[in-house]
Amino acid sequence: MKVIGVDIGGTKVRMGVLDQDMKIYLDQKVPTTFPLYDLLEKEILKILEKHPDVEAIGIGTHGFVDSKEGKIVYATDLLPGWTGTEVKKHLEQATNKRVEIDNDANVAALAEAKIGAAKEYDRTLCLTLGTGLGGGVIMDDFLLSGGPNGGAAELGHMTLYPNGVECGCGRKGCFEQYVSGTALHRRIKEAGLSYKPEELFTANDPKAKQVIREFTYDLAIIISSLQATFDMEVVVIGGGVSEAADYWLDDLNEQLKPLLLNDLDIKIAQFGNEAGMYGAAHLVL
Ligand SMILES: [Zn+2]
Repeated sequence: MKVIGVDIGGTKVRMGVLDQDMKIYLDQKVPTTFPLYDLLEKEILKILEKHPDVEAIGIGTHGFVDSKEGKIVYATDLLPGWTGTEVKKHLEQATNKRVEIDNDANVAALAEAKIGAAKEYDRTLCLTLGTGLGGGVIMDDFLLSGGPNGGAAELGHMTLYPNGVECGCGRKGCFEQYVSGTALHRRIKEAGLSYKPEELFTANDPKAKQVIREFTYDLAIIISSLQATFDMEVVVIGGGVSEAADYWLDDLNEQLKPLLLNDLDIKIAQFGNEAGMYGAAHLVL
C-alpha cells in the first residue's frame, strides 16, 4: 500500500510517497507559501498524477489539531491563515482519498513508536526537546491526540513550578520552560555563563555541570510524574538537546532512579527531520 506523508513546517513542506516498509518512491520539499491549503492541494494533486496508486494521505502540522474532524483548531503566526482550516474535509473532496491530519509532535512520536527507537515497545511516551517541549503518547497502538481544542498530549504545558517562569501559553511554570532547548539557553544565562548549549555539555567547568544537573533533575521529575499518569514502558527523547545525550543521559538515569514507581527505559530518538514524514505516513498505514 502506498501513501503520501506530509510534514508541514513554517518554512517548508516535505512530502513523500512511501509504502508500509518505508520504501520511499518520492521525497520532495517545497517552500511554505500562503494560502497554505491551496499549496497543499495543488502539490498533492500533482503527486497523485504521477503516483495514482497512492491510497491515502497522512499529514503532520504545526499547531493544535482536532484530529477527529481533521481541522486546525489553532496555529500561530508561523502559519498565517491556517487556523480553522478543515483540511480533511476539503482534501478528501479534492482527492477522493482518505486523509488524516495530526499535530507534528504526535506524528513524530508515532514514527518513533512504530519504526524507530520504541518499535519493540507497546507503551511509548515521546518528549521532543526543541524550541518548546513536544509530547507524544502512544499506548497499545492508540495515539492520544485531538480533543475539542486539539490540546491532548500537550505535555509541555503541564506545570512543573507553580508561579515559575512565564510561558508562551500565558501561564507560569510549564514543563517546557525548564527542559526545552530554549530553557537550556535561559539556564545557561542565569548561571552567568556564556556557553552555547552544545559547548555546555563538554565544558570542564563545575558551573556548567551544575546547570546540566539541574536540567536533568527537572527532566527526571517530569518523567516520574508522567509515569504515574501513563505507566509507559519507554520514554523516547528527541529534539536538538537529544543530540548531546551522550553527555547527560547517565546523569538523567541516576537522578530518575529514586523517583520512579517502576523501572522504565529511556531511549534517544532514532529519527531527526524525517520523523515528520514517516509518522504522517503511519497515520494512514
Ligand atoms: Zn505553557
